[in-house]
Amino acid sequence: MSYDQDNIFAKILRGEIPCNKVYENEHSLAFNDINPQSKVHVLVIPKGSYTDVDDFSRKASKDEIASLMQAVAEVCKITKVSLSEGGSGFRLIANTGTDGSQEVPHFHYHVMGGEPLGLRGLRKN
Ligand code: AMP
Repeated sequence: MSYDQDNIFAKILRGEIPCNKVYENEHSLAFNDINPQSKVHVLVIPKGSYTDVDDFSRKASKDEIASLMQAVAEVCKITKVSLSEGGSGFRLIANTGTDGSQEVPHFHYHVMGGEPLGLRGLRKN
């Protein structure tokens, strides 16, 4: 799949539309999901143009990969879901492609938590 420069997250990264930022580092940005499915629902994305987790894993630099995972850890700390910080856990999801019900074609992790999740995030209505 080729990268669509007009996808909504590309527009957020270019500053063309706003987001509710939670955390940012050199290669990554995290912001609240506009339609949260749980008390904590943050999206963590690379600033580079990657379509999905597989594309990112194959093409991103070690710095970009480390940066993204560091951003996930920071988001979990900031939102108090991190087990290491006394939180009660979370779900990390990367919907991928058609079968994975990915809607926005810019790689993103969903960090969901803040309450017992059941199947939330695993099922789409
Ligand atoms: P996915 O189905 O994994 O591609 O998830 C895309 C997510 O992006 C959904 O949870 C949407 O609610 C979320 N989303 C779409 N547009 C925005 C936006 N402008 N700001 C924040 N989150 C968004």
